[in-house]
Amino acid sequence: LLIGLYDGCFPVSQVCESGNLGLGCSHGLDGEMILDGDCYIARANQHVKKMAPSDKLPFAQVAQFQPDGTLPIASVKSKEALEEKLLSLAQTNNLFIGFRIEGAFKSLSIRVPPMTAKKPYPPMVELLKNQTIYQLNDVQGTLVGFWSPKQYQGTTVAGIHFHFVDSERIQGGHVLEIQIERGKLAYQLYDRLELQLSVDQEFLDADLDYGNLDAHIKHTEGQ
Ligand SMILES: [Zn+2]
Repeated sequence: LLIGLYDGCFPVSQVCESGNLGLGCSHGLDGEMILDGDCYIARANQHVKKMAPSDKLPFAQVAQFQPDGTLPIASVKSKEALEEKLLSLAQTNNLFIGFRIEGAFKSLSIRVPPMTAKKPYPPMVELLKNQTIYQLNDVQGTLVGFWSPKQYQGTTVAGIHFHFVDSERIQGGHVLEIQIERGKLAYQLYDRLELQLSVDQEFLDADLDYGNLDAHIKHTEGQ
């Protein structure tokens, strides 16, 4: 994604067979995908939409989610506080954590990419200069995402990465910051990672060397 390979290559139908929880982005990197049973797409200045099985995604991180534990949470004041909570439940920094939080949110800072991308696509750092950031206050909804060990930066996003969709399925996107009033947190630890690469010619021919990988992922993901 960082170098601008935004053409969809994985159909939503395949993504949904691989998992029932996750996140990703849409063809052309024009939206943020939320997988919560079904795949939803959040785009700038549009209501969230359910994706069609034939829609294709350039990237998704998904899991079969059967929670190891579910617990009530309240007054989680930041992304860092949520990360600490997840790691204290996991009791390790070396496995992947999938999580889902349904509840009431005091505030959310949400990012969606611009709708303008046409080929040749600009690199992600350039494209996201025109991202839309908006604030939601006192909303009900669902967060889905992952915490990944730092060794997997580049394969995925290291640390915590999650997307939001409100309970009416109208607004959503990539979450930059949160304050959770109260909710139900479900989590699962994963000790296995299956990686499906694209076999499209564009991907096969691409030069994937990328000098500022860590810094640019942190920048584009708002970490
Ligand atoms: Zn994201």
